[in-house]
Amino acid sequence: MKVCIVGSGGREHAMGYAFEKAGFEVFYTPGNGLTENNIDFESLKYFNGLIIPGSEEYLANGIAEKYANVFGPDSRASRLESSKIYAKQFMSIYNLTTPMFEIASNREELLEKIEKFYPPYVLKADGLAKGKGVLIVENKDEAVELGSKLISGELIAGVSGPIVIDEFLPGRELSAMAVVNGDNFSLFPFIQDYKKINTGNTGPNTGGMGSFGPIEIDGELKTKIEELFAKTLYGLKKEGVFYRGFLYLGLMIYEKTPYILEYNVRLGDPETEVIVATNPDNFVECVLKAYNKENIPEFNPKYYALDVVLASKGYPGKYEKGKEIRNLFPLQGEDFVIFGAGVKKENDKYYTNGGRVLHCVAFSENKEEAKKRAYEISEKIDFDGKIFRKDIGVIYA
Ligand code: ATP
Repeated sequence: MKVCIVGSGGREHAMGYAFEKAGFEVFYTPGNGLTENNIDFESLKYFNGLIIPGSEEYLANGIAEKYANVFGPDSRASRLESSKIYAKQFMSIYNLTTPMFEIASNREELLEKIEKFYPPYVLKADGLAKGKGVLIVENKDEAVELGSKLISGELIAGVSGPIVIDEFLPGRELSAMAVVNGDNFSLFPFIQDYKKINTGNTGPNTGGMGSFGPIEIDGELKTKIEELFAKTLYGLKKEGVFYRGFLYLGLMIYEKTPYILEYNVRLGDPETEVIVATNPDNFVECVLKAYNKENIPEFNPKYYALDVVLASKGYPGKYEKGKEIRNLFPLQGEDFVIFGAGVKKENDKYYTNGGRVLHCVAFSENKEEAKKRAYEISEKIDFDGKIFRKDIGVIYA
């Protein structure tokens, strides 16, 4: 059986790794310097295996309509992620807990509607903005200035139109991910991710500097989160939208209640790397069952897994590329795996090619052992300008 994973990050490499372990012939498009069998996107036309897109752009652009055998929602269902306005309206119709919101299409509306909110003001672009479309602003005048520019397209190149004004909720953020077969879902384990660039959880946000799991979640909270998934699937059914693929809820836990901040129609990166490593066979089984519209088994992690991201100095700002990666395979053993992200291969040598370069993922029945191994690898692999957080595995309150 053949599988093609669409995308180039660690998330995609991790999914391919699970399928390879399960005996599949695995291809990637475009893939990265550490993945093998990288093919052209165009050759998907002739691909007769299962196609699994990793990131949202492919889904929003209609890959599920264009090709047969795609595991992922079509562009209509993908609006849960590609349009924040659609998602918020959907949530209010189907009674899903989400912060109170208004929509503003121009400066006048923004001036009027912002009066219903208190600082800090949360403004969100409607469309996909690669994580840059959310502004949190203390001052009202500044919020109106920036919000107007977000609407007119002056703030982010290629992003314009009506915006969401969201009530600010303080609390603890948590993501929940599941696999969906069109009718039902099965929850993946909860994973802790580390968004800030610096050890100690400081500095600007990144795509994610590491992750670890499974983490324990209060039983009552888990039940409430499962209800949110069930209600979402109910709403989609009512809307006549067929949903098969991964589904991700970005949550804020406020006064013990999970509020949905956003939907993603794909898995997170670097959460996928850890989910897969906790039980690769189970991951493949869940995807295949969901794809075939069969009952999805409960996901049972066998291990703790921990992912330390090696990044390029300067990331998430400007950074240099093309640094040779030395000692890429530093250890022997069956208890870790290295996933590529911003990495390229030339003449049998490997070079940095992005902000997040590699994911060093170790797994073990013992949490501390997984951490120790992941850090042993992270120390040994080397390239000029290598940076990584030293506190992956620490749970901050
Ligand atoms: P991502 O890059 O995670 O996909 P996004 O650009 O799609 O993000 P959101 O997840 O909606 O946008 O918001 C990004 C971040 O902004 C959240 O992770 C959270 O920290 C903060 N945020 C968003 N909405 C709110 C809110 N209503 N109250 C408090 N914080 C919020």
